[in-house]
Amino acid sequence: MGLLSRSEVETGIPVCDALKRPARPVWLVHGGDHFTVLFRPWWGGGAAADARAAVAAADADADAGGASATAAAGAGAAGDVKAAFARIFAELVKQGVAPNAAAAQALQQAAAEAAKPAAKSAKAAPAGGAQLPALPFLHWNGLPPGGPRMAAVAVAPRAGPGRGPDGAVGPAPAAHTPGYVKPVPGEIDSVVQSRKEDKAARPDAYRTWRYEVVLAVDDPTVADSGAKRADVATFAQGDAAPGEPWRCAACYAQRFKTMCFGLNDPLPPAQLAAAGDDVQGALRAQPCRHCAKPRGEGGWSLWMPFERLPPPQQRQMARRHAAKVEVVLWTKWPEAAVHYGGDNSKPPSV
Ligand SMILES: [Zn+2]
Repeated sequence: MGLLSRSEVETGIPVCDALKRPARPVWLVHGGDHFTVLFRPWWGGGAAADARAAVAAADADADAGGASATAAAGAGAAGDVKAAFARIFAELVKQGVAPNAAAAQALQQAAAEAAKPAAKSAKAAPAGGAQLPALPFLHWNGLPPGGPRMAAVAVAPRAGPGRGPDGAVGPAPAAHTPGYVKPVPGEIDSVVQSRKEDKAARPDAYRTWRYEVVLAVDDPTVADSGAKRADVATFAQGDAAPGEPWRCAACYAQRFKTMCFGLNDPLPPAQLAAAGDDVQGALRAQPCRHCAKPRGEGGWSLWMPFERLPPPQQRQMARRHAAKVEVVLWTKWPEAAVHYGGDNSKPPSV
């Protein structure tokens, strides 16, 4: 049995390779404070006919007290797994927590969902490499309030550097390498928050929200690590928006030392009116009330729609705002599109 854990995302320490690639396709899913189970059903490919046949086998197994599925499963490890799943499934059916028809229907829907082009789904993971065929799973959550629930989950992995042909992550590096790299001026230093109105209007669609970002300013007191990075996206500060509160980028860069997040009120209308034609000049001259640097010198935060964020920040926001089950699944299949059978608007809780 394997293990996938949300702690990997929080700590940056990968789960052991053997637990990510167990001998049997069964994973304990550690969502943080709760454990659930994810497993490959005993049929391949997710075809509805196979699902129905497997469900019928589980039915027969339940009727015959476990003998028929074992007999039908064939020999070897694959047969063992098939029989084990059939027994587990039959037991769940007996307890009334996973009606067979509903499970078969859920799998059918998961397969159909997985067949849809990823671009059409607002909930799909950030676009990366080629989308690979979807893998059908069942996810079992045994406890209230999210359960008891058996959910069909289809994972469509993506190809990418350092991943296997199945889109799963490769072995973890032998040693941890310290992550700090001095940012380039104009690069996104951090994503501060998402726009509250966007979040309230479309709570599940984080890819449609706007985000407040602070651009990096050069800090001469920090040494350059010398590491060269390819394709670092940088942004121009652009024009300041009159009438909007702003965040001082110079103060924000020092926030861990000062605990000051650099928020400032808009320039008062009277001063704006007095500026005449040079509105930008007046906005840029407004001093930060925390550090007294003129706005134009210290820099200020920008609002960007999700699609304008560079891939690293898109991935970061996906980890912050996607369903918890997806965040955990991405530790094995990075950037995979995840679809749910049955009620696709409700990811299983982990
Ligand atoms: Zn400031």
